[in-house]
Amino acid sequence: MNNLQLTNSLTRKKEIFKPNNLEKISLYACGPTVYDNPHVGNARTLVVFDVLYRVLNALFNSNVTYVRNITDVDDKIIEASQNNKKDINEITNEVIKIFHENCKSLNCLKPTVEPKATEHIKEMIEMTSSLIKKGFAYENKGHVYFAVSSFKDYGKLSNKNLDELKVGSRVEISDLKKNPMDFVLWKPSKEKDPGWESPWGRGRPGWHLECSAMSEKYLGKNLDIHGGGLDLIFPHHENEIAQSCCNNNTKKFANYWVHNGFVTINKEKMSKSLGNIITISDAVKKYSGQAVRLALLSAHYSQPLDWNDELLKNQENVINKWYNLYSPEKNNVSEVDEILLDDLNTPGYIAKIHQLYNDASKGNAEKKIKFNQACKLIGLFSISKKDWESSKKSKISVSESYITKKIEERIEAKNKGDFLLADKIRDELLSKGILIEDQKEKTIWKVK
Ligand code: AMP
Ligand code: ZN
Repeated sequence: MNNLQLTNSLTRKKEIFKPNNLEKISLYACGPTVYDNPHVGNARTLVVFDVLYRVLNALFNSNVTYVRNITDVDDKIIEASQNNKKDINEITNEVIKIFHENCKSLNCLKPTVEPKATEHIKEMIEMTSSLIKKGFAYENKGHVYFAVSSFKDYGKLSNKNLDELKVGSRVEISDLKKNPMDFVLWKPSKEKDPGWESPWGRGRPGWHLECSAMSEKYLGKNLDIHGGGLDLIFPHHENEIAQSCCNNNTKKFANYWVHNGFVTINKEKMSKSLGNIITISDAVKKYSGQAVRLALLSAHYSQPLDWNDELLKNQENVINKWYNLYSPEKNNVSEVDEILLDDLNTPGYIAKIHQLYNDASKGNAEKKIKFNQACKLIGLFSISKKDWESSKKSKISVSESYITKKIEERIEAKNKGDFLLADKIRDELLSKGILIEDQKEKTIWKVK
């Protein structure tokens, strides 16, 4: 029944997914650092892992624990607070609120647990103490570093040895480290910065430590799947592996590592530092959340995805068309199509949905059920047809009274034989996204 295959970044091969325990499948995806509004690059990670979560739920009878953390203590947050002269909590609360609204617009299911780093400091201090005790970490002037030379598998996920990693990465230079590649587990905080009492003085955890501590708390020492964007492989995931395997004396931290490719704009990675981001909030103002979601699934998760208006307009038209065959029944999926099982081949699956639509539109009732199931499996058809129609209305820039007035003017023009003017009015409405249709007795309008 389960032939799910995933490309495992650890082996760089497509592998059949074999869970540790059929009763509790574990999935961890690194969540946002809440210092600024999430962008559509971040949305890709959200949507890809949401589809994986839905597929796992369908395959394993909903016995899936999905953990997606929130990084709410980090240097970037401190910096944002200084730059914007805003309190840290104000920033993190605001961004978390927007993030949750964005998840809802994209129709992402809530994860089973959404742990915040600041609520797990105790676990992080314990893990740091334990790593020092076991000889994998050392303290120097309130800083605690992980000694990468103590872990022989360091670099296995990135497929690089220490020397290669050194060349390719920007490592934080510090005289306090024994080796430039050593990374921080704990660091001191200035009085005004967030900090917690610890055996090494008042300080805060390093980002990598946060995920190791939180994933262990909710999913144990050996998880099935761990994921995130491609940029997290090094150093973040490499460091998570080092911390967790050394602390737990295990060979494997996660059995399958899944990484999604970047959203790009003109072939360049979408990122804050390049200044080319489109926030999720802006994207779903301009297009429907479902069109954004479909666009994010239109390329295979491992490949880059170039973001542009044409792509989005196309997806909007597709969703609009598909709503013609929407059916409201809650039809749970018991079988997952083999196209999707093949390494979450969403572009292939979307092509299949198009085919099902064409078959169903010829009046085949069974195909219509299948079509609706397929859409829902990848998180589409999140709202009823009625709500879809009214959400489209709310997106148009003109009021209903304006449209009615224009339609009356057009009727008058036609009555006078001024067909040029009548056509002009029709085209003007069309350019605003309003389609008018002359029926026997009246003229109706709809959103294109
Ligand atoms: P951050 O908030 O920067 O820690 O990122 C949250 C998640 O979004 C991580 O899994 C990143 O790898 C991912 N991510 C960031 N930028 C992009 C992008 N342009 N395309 C795809 N994923 C991205
Ligand atoms: Zn992480």
